[in-house]
Amino acid sequence: MDTLIDLAIQRLHTQGGRMTFQRRLILEALDCLGCHPTAEEVFAVVNQRDPSVNLSTIYRTLRWLEQEGLISARRFDESRRQERFDLVLPAEHHHFQCTTCKNVIEFDHPSIQVIKTQFAGVSGCQVQSASMMLYGLCPQCRQLRLAS
Ligand SMILES: [Zn+2]
Ligand SMILES: [Zn+2]
Repeated sequence: MDTLIDLAIQRLHTQGGRMTFQRRLILEALDCLGCHPTAEEVFAVVNQRDPSVNLSTIYRTLRWLEQEGLISARRFDESRRQERFDLVLPAEHHHFQCTTCKNVIEFDHPSIQVIKTQFAGVSGCQVQSASMMLYGLCPQCRQLRLAS
């Protein structure tokens, strides 16, 4: 299966760009499933290995990856308006967020595919992607609430 880095190399290749050391560091920092880092968190990881990388390079690379459809920017925390970057691959997935600790858990469910297909059939729209957010208490926060 292609990793984020493989896919980025393919896209760069067709655009005449190349995989620089800095880009590779940024991709490696992003390439952890379910971690949803902010641009600042990516910057902190990359900066440890190459202090010459600045935050605007990070943003430029993130925007490019977003344009290419390899990552998507999400705002899980409405109150903080902070963007977190999510890998689109290996598959479209959805999120549960704990309302207490703000932890985000990824999930997928076949019924979401059914909803897309049915909606497309009824409305005549072409559905390109889906994003579902569920909210509640994670197991740890439930435990804490029960214990108190
Ligand atoms: Zn995610
Ligand atoms: Zn929680």
